[in-house]
Amino acid sequence: MAARKKEPGFATLCIHGKKHLDKHEGEKPIRAISTPIFQSSTFAFENAEHGAAVFRGEDASYVYTRLGNPTQTALEIEMAYLEKGEAALALASGMAAATTAVLNCCQVGDHIVSGDTLYGGTHQLFTQTLPRMGITVTEVPANDPANFAKAIKKNTKLIYLETPANPTLVLTDIKAVVKIARAKGIPVLVDNTFCTPYLQNPLEMGADIVLHSATKYIGGHGDTVAGILVGKADWIMQARMEILRDVGGCISPFNAWLLLRGLKTLPVRMDRHMANAMEVAQFLSYHPKVDKVIFPGLKTHPQHQLAASQQRGFGGMISFMVSGGREGGRVVMDNVKLCTLAVSLGDVDTLIEHPATMTHSTYNEEELLTVGIDPAMVRISVGLENVEDIIADLRQALALI
Ligand SMILES: *Cc1c(COP(=O)(O)O)cnc(C)c1O
Repeated sequence: MAARKKEPGFATLCIHGKKHLDKHEGEKPIRAISTPIFQSSTFAFENAEHGAAVFRGEDASYVYTRLGNPTQTALEIEMAYLEKGEAALALASGMAAATTAVLNCCQVGDHIVSGDTLYGGTHQLFTQTLPRMGITVTEVPANDPANFAKAIKKNTKLIYLETPANPTLVLTDIKAVVKIARAKGIPVLVDNTFCTPYLQNPLEMGADIVLHSATKYIGGHGDTVAGILVGKADWIMQARMEILRDVGGCISPFNAWLLLRGLKTLPVRMDRHMANAMEVAQFLSYHPKVDKVIFPGLKTHPQHQLAASQQRGFGGMISFMVSGGREGGRVVMDNVKLCTLAVSLGDVDTLIEHPATMTHSTYNEEELLTVGIDPAMVRISVGLENVEDIIADLRQALALI
């Protein structure tokens, strides 16, 4: 019996990928170790008939970078591979990915069920922009799958999850929601930004679409804004040929290249993000000025067990509340010296911010309270600095409360 070929490990896949597009048919053979940046808006046809055949859909040659570009393709192949999906679509931002996904699933009169804690931009899209276009969204507490079942209507065309959710770190049991959705034939999308494919592969749990704000851990260096969708080949093809073509949120070749570079170190970075976050979370939970620490890796997190079984690690994001409430949080944010007061997350730099007035200011006061975004909550994206330095910085800032 032939031995089954063992699949290489995740880090190997991140670095070696599928080995595509590294050959160039020039005057001399080239095999670049890094995928070239095809900084070209358009691609020449061999002759008029070739161009016509491409437009008839009979020839898959590149046409124009809004629809596809070899550097973008290289990224899409990698991401589909790492997320264990059939195909991927790279976009200009995480929000371009969200709008593309929604428009590819829904039309006027349709309905979406989503978790109630979402990235602030997604919440704004769901509560302000989509309703103007006749698409309605019901947001439900995402920690109990039964809430999704209850909210499904006849016209529900998409279930949209973010797990762990930004910034409350509430988890959703993906398999349980998939079971509910499957019975009704409704696709499930998972925003996998916080976990990355290193820690969680929602498609393997039965989800239909994965979304990333690649701006965060995938890029990882705070220098790129980008988004990714991964799903079935025909769904991705429709997203590209209808929504991306007509709405136009394409990624630039340079940004696609930055993400390809980021992917090579993704597992190494995630391991350090997680190790540092665990130490920072422990430091905070023993600090007398800290009232509450929310981190899925702590046993005090109400869904610690689900995080341990659904994810391969607890991630690098922590939310916490200090004594002195909102004013106490302000003192910390205004006095950190190493940590940077900035939105975004998943960068090599430690970033600290105030969800209620920054990333999640799209939630009104009442909504903030309902979904558990305490006005005192401070969110920290633990970076890759020496953890002693991050802790020393937080310690000196907390001492000022
Ligand atoms: C940042 C973020 C987004 C939006 O992505 P952009 O790249 O900023 O457009 C979506 N979902 C989550 C969880 C995010 O953190």
